[in-house]
Amino acid sequence: MQRSYVIKPELGKEYPRVSHGKGIYLYDTSGKRYIDGCSGAVTASIGHGVEEIAEAMAEQARKVSFAYRSHFSSEAVEELGAKLAEWAPGELNWSFFVNSGSEATETAQKIAIQYWQEQGRPSKTRMISRWMSYHGITMGALSMSGHVLRRKRFVPLLADYPAISPPYPYRRPDGMSLEQYARLCADELETAILRVGPEQVAAFIAEPVIGASGGAVVPPDGYFQRIREICDKYDVLFIADEVMTGVGRTGEKFGIDHWGVKPDLITLGKGMSAGYTPMAAAMATEKIIDTITRGSGLIMAGHTYSANPQSAAVSLAVLRYVEAHNLVEKAAVQGAYLLRKLRELADESPLIGEARGLGLLCGLEFVKDKRTKEPFPLSRGVAARVISRAFENGLLVYPATGGLEGVAGDSVILSPPLTITTEEIDELVDLLKKSVQRVQEEMRQEMQL
Ligand code: PMP
Repeated sequence: MQRSYVIKPELGKEYPRVSHGKGIYLYDTSGKRYIDGCSGAVTASIGHGVEEIAEAMAEQARKVSFAYRSHFSSEAVEELGAKLAEWAPGELNWSFFVNSGSEATETAQKIAIQYWQEQGRPSKTRMISRWMSYHGITMGALSMSGHVLRRKRFVPLLADYPAISPPYPYRRPDGMSLEQYARLCADELETAILRVGPEQVAAFIAEPVIGASGGAVVPPDGYFQRIREICDKYDVLFIADEVMTGVGRTGEKFGIDHWGVKPDLITLGKGMSAGYTPMAAAMATEKIIDTITRGSGLIMAGHTYSANPQSAAVSLAVLRYVEAHNLVEKAAVQGAYLLRKLRELADESPLIGEARGLGLLCGLEFVKDKRTKEPFPLSRGVAARVISRAFENGLLVYPATGGLEGVAGDSVILSPPLTITTEEIDELVDLLKKSVQRVQEEMRQEMQL
């Protein structure tokens, strides 16, 4: 084969070449079929090869693909903004378009800082986030992220933001009710704000359901309500990072809708364009945008491709598709079915400590000892093995190990397209079971050595 000059995630590894996709399936050039059990990176949420999207893409390309945002707006971008305003909770009516989740969280951070500057409070620049969180790979977004594996090489370059504990019900203190636990975790935010000083803190950022760093960790009821109260008490903005949870993934339009809490900023990515084009957004409330409009009138953010008509048209077509096929409601129903099947699998498997999730964002956490919940050392790479075995068996699964050695087990995410049928879920879980059993056997043999 011709030598490759493409830098891939694992250098030196041979990757199969993808040929095409249809619905929940992807095919490589050798003809092997894979169930996309994680929508790629929790992205391809309407499935592959949707004709309407290809049509919308071609139609826009024939008109105009790129016109710079400093020169023009476009029909596609205006309609996309209006659609998101209709979808978003509360007064979150304004969207700033970018190209990736990392850019979206950094833009939200900048808008938050600017909001305080415009009011004569320039010292409010610091962010507070949580361990077991992921907000992106660029330096600003990584500074906010508590994903140890992804940050550890770059720590000296990162901003030193305080991080609080995530709500992690599976590993809460013995005997503590979920209600008490929700309060305990949320109150850590108050302590952190007071330590840093409220006049230093611009915003708190959190994923409604923890994704890449923990594997679909769902907070207890009451947690986000209390977070909102604390943010209000100290004039700290609340950013809900919905890059993974937004646009129906969890069975509500936005993850935070499950708790009826209204953030000041929301970030979107992934499912917003379902993988058909790079597209992401930072959404802000009327109050924030009014304040900045009355101040400098300029948002100091943006990229060359921000708000380009081509990506906007594709994203708009995706949102319309989600609406037309009731995919938000379907995610709730099919997600409940998937979770039930995963819990059955967890009951049978000595390797799975917990199956959890919300809508079609589900996770499995692997443990060495189910009774004590003792995690495997990360060096054993249990989640990575499950992912490799599943890949061999024709199933794609997403890694969700945040690297908190000894504190959390390693995890994977199951997040198929929202279009998945019950029969397809059965097929997915059968392949997963086969893959987990294989790793179980490997671990059993190794532990005996
Ligand atoms: N925020 C969250 C919650 C994410 O899950 C991700 C991606 N896994 C990001 C931000 C970063 O998005 P991107 O990879 O598109 O930069």
